[in-house]
Amino acid sequence: MNYRHIYHAGNFADVLKHAVLALVIEHLKLKDAPFRVIDTHAGTGRYDLASEKAQKTGEWRDGIGRLLDDTPPAEIAASLAPYLDVIRGENSGSEVRSYPGSPLIARRLMRRGDRLVVNEAHPEDAATLKEVFAKDPATKVLTIDGWSALKAVLPPKERRGIVLIDPPFEEPGEFQRLVEGLEAAHRRFATGTVILWYPIKDVRVVQSFYREAVALGIPKLLVAELFVRPPYSEGELAGTGLLILNPPFTLEAKLASLLPYLASKLARAQGANGRLEWLAGERVTSS
Ligand code: SAM
Repeated sequence: MNYRHIYHAGNFADVLKHAVLALVIEHLKLKDAPFRVIDTHAGTGRYDLASEKAQKTGEWRDGIGRLLDDTPPAEIAASLAPYLDVIRGENSGSEVRSYPGSPLIARRLMRRGDRLVVNEAHPEDAATLKEVFAKDPATKVLTIDGWSALKAVLPPKERRGIVLIDPPFEEPGEFQRLVEGLEAAHRRFATGTVILWYPIKDVRVVQSFYREAVALGIPKLLVAELFVRPPYSEGELAGTGLLILNPPFTLEAKLASLLPYLASKLARAQGANGRLEWLAGERVTSS
């Protein structure tokens, strides 16, 4: 296990993933009934962007670093508000030094009575994660394999909630494990919203992932992708994708305006764009 999220925290992929996570949580809050957020590959929970490791790549500068002092149109600002308000709450002024990862973003948005389960397998990162949530009775920290954790914690007793599956993609076979994870999550928690993250380097690999996901026969699968470069960018991450099972019905419309905005703000080369596609269950659209 070599992957450490500190090198990537706050980059363009985190921006899309965390903005969507925040929107899904806000949607769950429209009803009083409590919910649970489950994060199978959680990282450390909080990242110091001034640290040597974060400075080494500086990826956050082309992600969250480009967003905080912008004034987008009202519709976009409203869609980004749940996410950016958490980031602002962790920092003072428009300078971002502390970046909350998915566990802390979820925790900041939860209400009394909602629960969080976070899992991290890297021993050092798991220890940091435990410290972040040490005195928090609403959060359970697990330190096992994320794919085993997924099966162990589903379904949540609230029968409402979100599962974030955000593996590091450092070993071959991760797309296959994502498909298996999707199948397992749906089998145990068919009504839950499941967000699966994937990197896009070669779109042919991603298309084969779609085919395997569609072959599961699961309804309501929405794909949201953000390209900061043209799709066939040798070696570099061209884009980031989320496959979302059971997205809230409001999410597609929000992403239809948010994705082009993020593409224009976070572009690294000509050809940046956003893409929305229903793989199963709803109409086919793109932005
Ligand atoms: N979800 C985090 C966020 O958005 O802030 C980022 C997670 S990072 C992309 C992936 C994490 O998975 C890393 O912290 C890595 O140590 C951890 N990891 C790697 N293999 C794992 C496994 N088999 N089970 C659980 N966690 C694992």
